[in-house]
Parts: sequence; C-alpha cells; structure tokens
Amino acid sequence: MKTQEETLHIIETLKQLYPDALCSLTYEKDYELLFAVRLSAQCTDARVNLITPELFARFPSLEAFASASYEEVGEVIRSCGFFRTKAKDLIECAKLLLSRHGGKVPDTMEALTALPGVGRKTANLVLGDIYGQPAYVCDTHCIRITGRLGLTDGSTDPLQVERQLRAVLPPEESSDFCHRMVLHGRALCSARKPSCTECPLRALCDYAKEA
Ligand code: SF4
Repeated sequence: MKTQEETLHIIETLKQLYPDALCSLTYEKDYELLFAVRLSAQCTDARVNLITPELFARFPSLEAFASASYEEVGEVIRSCGFFRTKAKDLIECAKLLLSRHGGKVPDTMEALTALPGVGRKTANLVLGDIYGQPAYVCDTHCIRITGRLGLTDGSTDPLQVERQLRAVLPPEESSDFCHRMVLHGRALCSARKPSCTECPLRALCDYAKEA
C-alpha cells in the first residue's frame, strides 16, 4: 500500500497529465447524465454519445420518457447493447424521478441506488459530477489502475475498491481522481498492455516495479 505522501504525489502527477478531469459522457440536464451512465454499461462512452442526441431530442423531458413505450425507447438505443433492459430502466427511472423526487435527481447514495439500473458506480458519478460530493467511481479503469499502482490491495470487487479508496484519497480529490483513472486507462494504462515506460507514474507503481 502507498504512504500518504506517495498517494498525494500520484494525485498531483495525474493532475498534470490530465488537467481537465471531465466525464466523457455528454449531457445537459442532470437526469440525462444518469441515463447516459445507464446506457454506458457494457458499451463505450463514445457510442453512448452518438446515441444520446437523438434519444434526448425524441424524448425531451422526464414526462416524455415516462409516457414512452419500451419499444420506442429501445429502438433509439438499440446499438448500445442490452437495449430492452436499458429502455425499461430509463422509463421506470423517469417515472420514479417524477413520482418520488419531484422530477429531480436525488442527491444521496441511498435514494440513487433505489432507482432502476442505478448501482454504486453510477450513483457515485452523479454525486460527484452533479452535486460536487466526494465520489469514488469504481469502474473497470479505476479498479485496474489503482490495483496496479498499489493504492488498493488489487481486489476486483468494486465495493472493496471503493472502501479502500475512501480510506486513502482526500474526499475533495476523489471525483476528479476517478475521472483521471479513466483518461489514464485510455491513454497509457490499458488492460492488455500498459505503456509503463512512457508513464510518469512508473516510479510509484507496484506493477511497473514488479515488471
Ligand atoms: S506504470 Fe504502467 S501499470 Fe503503472 S500506472 Fe503507469 S502504465 Fe499503468
């Protein structure tokens, strides 16, 4: 595991590498982020960004989603995979946002994860990006890279990784840090062949030291 000093060094190095720690999903309304993240399961963000302009134009409000049929929504999101389940989740989620939350995206982990298709990863992302709360988005990039770096014990269980990151990351850094994990995973630290010789984190990385 890393010392606090090493952890802060990793955080600062990532900030220099990726100054803009933004979510790569495009959205305008809060619930659109929630829906885009749901669509991104088993799909790339790039593919989701191709789909959502048409989706949000065709169903421009929560009311429009809530009154749509599964087939209508499924037709638009077909290319992102698991479209029947995702269409059902979006429609049921829209109904619950309207009936339980006055049309707003809730700002607690408990309320978010009670929505259809919303797990801790999605809830964390929403809490960080919409509400500016500490957020530990443990997706595949974050789990892989924090394990390689030695910020976690290498667990691949998202909840275990989230717990371990909560213990080592300063809360105010957590949301941006997780966005930077995604950017780093795409740029250098791929699943199959990480580019360790080019990586500014290599001196602090357990995986690079062992390799
Ligand atoms: S040194 Fe290699 S394994 Fe470690 S973070 Fe960089 S690319 Fe990933």
